[in-house]
Amino acid sequence: MRLRNVKGSREKIAENDFVIHNPEKMKGKWKEVFGNDNPIHIEVGMGKGRFLMELSNQNPDINYLGIEKYSSVLIRAIEKRQETELSNLFFIRMDAEDINEVFAEGEIDRIYLNFSDPWPKDRHAKRRLTSHQFLERYDKFLKKDGVLIFKTDNKALFDFSLEEVPVAGWKLENHTYDLHHSEYNEGNVMTEYEEKFSSMGNPICRMVISR
Ligand code: SAM
Repeated sequence: MRLRNVKGSREKIAENDFVIHNPEKMKGKWKEVFGNDNPIHIEVGMGKGRFLMELSNQNPDINYLGIEKYSSVLIRAIEKRQETELSNLFFIRMDAEDINEVFAEGEIDRIYLNFSDPWPKDRHAKRRLTSHQFLERYDKFLKKDGVLIFKTDNKALFDFSLEEVPVAGWKLENHTYDLHHSEYNEGNVMTEYEEKFSSMGNPICRMVISR
């Protein structure tokens, strides 16, 4: 993603009520943030938050948390969030490398990864959000029967991710190299990148994995 510095975004985020500041203090207590016992789904690397905005609108009985590393991107999600009446969507600004400091065992019901950065150099493989190192992090807080759903148009990243599933001790529930023309497309909510890449003719790959 091309990043443009957005002037004042850090300051605006610091005083925004839709962003959970010091998220590590909420570890094991995320239900308190939402004030109910509904399941919690997260998107890691949510970008401008369009996907989560639509899901949280469609599913008021599910709570959503969007994680994004960059203030200049998160600020765009906050701006859109401010135009809604949603009470089931909050954001966290952090690097997902530290995700185990934020969520406790069994606290999260579902993980979405959409169009994650490919990190094409082999020596950066462990930074990919579907690497076995990241799957091992997710394993510590995803509920036992929870699933991780990953979409991308990047076939090399998708094939790498398929290989990482058994390495990390996870199971492949289903996968497709062409989501939009598959049996799994019904109810699919498009992300910002999905819309962009599928309109260029790129097929969208998707996998659902569990333990
Ligand atoms: N998920 C969105 C979509 O599908 O439209 C955005 C995709 S964009 C290519 C990837 C996003 O993930 C970027 O906004 C990037 O800043 C964020 N990201 C990448 N690595 C991250 C990390 N380690 N922790 C948190 N966010 C990360």
